[in-house]
Amino acid sequence: MQKGPRDLLRSAVSGGRAVHAYLLTSTDPAAGRATALYLAQALVCEKRPEGPCGTCLACQKAAAGNHPDVYWAAPDGASLKLQQVHNLQNQAWLRPTEAIGKVFVLEQADTMTIEAANSLLRILEDPPGSATFVLLTAQPQQMLPTILSRCQRLDLAAGDLQPTNERRQEARGLIAALPDMDELQILDLAESWDKERDTLSERVRSLAACYRDLLVLGQTGDPSLLGSPDDLDWLRRQVLERSSAGLVASAEACEACLRQLERNASPRLAVEVLLFRLRVS
Ligand SMILES: [Zn+2]
Repeated sequence: MQKGPRDLLRSAVSGGRAVHAYLLTSTDPAAGRATALYLAQALVCEKRPEGPCGTCLACQKAAAGNHPDVYWAAPDGASLKLQQVHNLQNQAWLRPTEAIGKVFVLEQADTMTIEAANSLLRILEDPPGSATFVLLTAQPQQMLPTILSRCQRLDLAAGDLQPTNERRQEARGLIAALPDMDELQILDLAESWDKERDTLSERVRSLAACYRDLLVLGQTGDPSLLGSPDDLDWLRRQVLERSSAGLVASAEACEACLRQLERNASPRLAVEVLLFRLRVS
């Protein structure tokens, strides 16, 4: 099987081969943030170098956005500004508080002002030993070539987010079964998913992809527009049994759940809420 970006990052960290700056390119901001979080957790996990485990205190803090050694900067208004990069630089030269290194994630790095980019460049040219920079962008061509050349680039292809066959079957089975499931069965299911927390987002993304396909099929009738057109008869039956408002609500519930999982505030609760919402919509 081909190695995905996460496998590459995990093995780089566990093998002590992580570099000081990564550029993660993706047209899906959620995928970029999720992969950046994964890398941050790999770097701060208490079970390092085997991690990220996703469950230790360090991993949980990183996911909740309150690990003292993991910093996130997102555009302030339309751009990432000089002051924001300065703040990161000041932190980068201080000792880590809890982990053995510090991680700095810059979202939409292509929006850096020229002053901010030049300032970042200086620290990338001579990075503090314990700092790892993770730049996220959908538009690397908008960035300074001198910054790009300092980063190890990983492209998060859209294919990384397409459900595997197994996940798609699981999602379709669940979509069909949910209306007949009782509370206890739903709570049991959420518990069993929560035990495999690594795969939670992937499972919810697969559900989202299935609902999107149902919506597209219901509105256009055109199978060539589907992400996964196999088993078309099943899809058509599902469309007939559902309202488009219900499908929209279901797809939105999946997206809301994914945003919560990104923050990792309470994954099990997020999944329980999702499953109950999907059952009635
Ligand atoms: Zn951990």
